[in-house]
Amino acid sequence: MNLEMLLNAAVKTIRDHADELTTLDSAIGDADHGINMKRGFEAIDAAKAEILALPLGAALQKMGMTLVMTVGGASGPLYGSLLMGFKNLPENPTLSDVSKSFDEAVESVKKRGKSTMGEKTMLEVLVPVSDVLRSGNATVEAVLKAAEDGLESTRELQAKKGRASFLGERSIGHLDPGAMSSYLLIKSICKCYGVL
Ligand code: ADP
Ligand code: MG
Repeated sequence: MNLEMLLNAAVKTIRDHADELTTLDSAIGDADHGINMKRGFEAIDAAKAEILALPLGAALQKMGMTLVMTVGGASGPLYGSLLMGFKNLPENPTLSDVSKSFDEAVESVKKRGKSTMGEKTMLEVLVPVSDVLRSGNATVEAVLKAAEDGLESTRELQAKKGRASFLGERSIGHLDPGAMSSYLLIKSICKCYGVL
């Protein structure tokens, strides 16, 4: 696993899509998701040398701490928990190591957000991806498909967590911004593995 390549891809995708994420958040939130994510990932980019000098698990943990420290919105602590959840990932991880850490990471998002699947959040993407990774026949295509379907599923859901939940039924009919950022990040990682 080449963390530098993955980190660069993640930073680029957030830079490229920041406006789109903010537009989605303007429909059902407070129009800052792209701004929040960009602030956090620019801080990760700025700390890149320090991050890449660490062992893999500690590097991912530091990326998470960087998000927590720099992002004010809900997404900072949530994505921070996700990345910090990879702290036990060994050097040169196998697919099974990645799956185990992904499960731990998703659990820490659920715990931090007091949230679960079906509430129109980033978990709509992250949980199906963790299921594919655990399934024993994970391919890059299957991971991407799970992320895409998960994102699309948020359109018809009513938000039960976060600011979008204040809209009640009016949150239905819009994609969730956090599910979109999770999808974009997963897609950027899939692209690194050369399949797209
Ligand atoms: P804020 O809601 O503080 O403005 P952002 O706009 O950056 O923060 O992030 C909003 C996204 O965070 C939502 O689209 C949703 O995916 C995610 N989110 C919000 N609350 C939760 C939660 N409790 N659990 C999981 N994800 C959540
Ligand atoms: Mg917001």
